[in-house]
Amino acid sequence: MSDKKEKIFISDWELRRMNPPGGKAVSIPENAIISPLSRDWLDYGGERERVGGLERGTGHCIRWRVGNGQDPRTGNGAKPKEEELRERIVETGRKLYELGFVPATDGNISVRLADGSVLITASGVSKGKLAPADMARISMDGKFISGRKPSSEYLLHLRVYAKRPDVLAVVHAHPPVATGLASAGIALDKPLTSEIVIGLGKVPLAPYATPGTGEVSDSITGLLESHNAIMLANHGVVTYGASLEAAFQRMETVEQAAKITLVAEHLGGGKLIPPDKVKKLEEIRKRLGEKG
Ligand SMILES: [Zn+2]
Repeated sequence: MSDKKEKIFISDWELRRMNPPGGKAVSIPENAIISPLSRDWLDYGGERERVGGLERGTGHCIRWRVGNGQDPRTGNGAKPKEEELRERIVETGRKLYELGFVPATDGNISVRLADGSVLITASGVSKGKLAPADMARISMDGKFISGRKPSSEYLLHLRVYAKRPDVLAVVHAHPPVATGLASAGIALDKPLTSEIVIGLGKVPLAPYATPGTGEVSDSITGLLESHNAIMLANHGVVTYGASLEAAFQRMETVEQAAKITLVAEHLGGGKLIPPDKVKKLEEIRKRLGEKG
């Protein structure tokens, strides 16, 4: 196989470096694989405008018009407004509910606001029917600022933000297959598919802790630094990321990995990717700037 046919992985850091001054178009090899965060950056880098995203440029490049090196998550160098974030939380709640990850009033979602406070879904509300007002603003030391009564799992969210300054959004849900594995004491830490190794990394299993208490945040503390998704024994899953979309996608990917694991186990046990090949995948993962 020639080099030209090999896939190229581009991290968002590399994309930022490629970003020319003045928001001019940048050429990205057509065979490039870019991380979800990088895609956000391309989509929202400048005035939320993606010019010619699918247009083939000369040679083997796709040309994108991107911004001026501004924050990939927000565009225009500004943090998203609180109303916009509320809308995004509503949308994320609906998607989680439709996927069956948060039946009844399960699950909770939060974002870190520009002033350092946290916006979190209210207690006892269906995520499928959230309204922008069904949220609470709390401080990083857990004090109520405004809105409705916060989710009982607010301490879990605050612990993630405290330990991971890079994280701007946290999603906690009970996706049934992943939660089933977590209840059987099975972590998602085996190299079963290349996509899981690259996109998700290892998902560890935190020891059981009583929901809605400080035990849950204590149970994950040691795992936060080196992972982007954690399974909670006999409870559910928490994922987080630099955007709400990244945190949500990780939750989807965890459930997908759980389903794949379940099928492989049913069929006599997964045949793992050989260690030397896993190493290659982990190098790609590192280049994408992912943890875990
Ligand atoms: Zn829960």
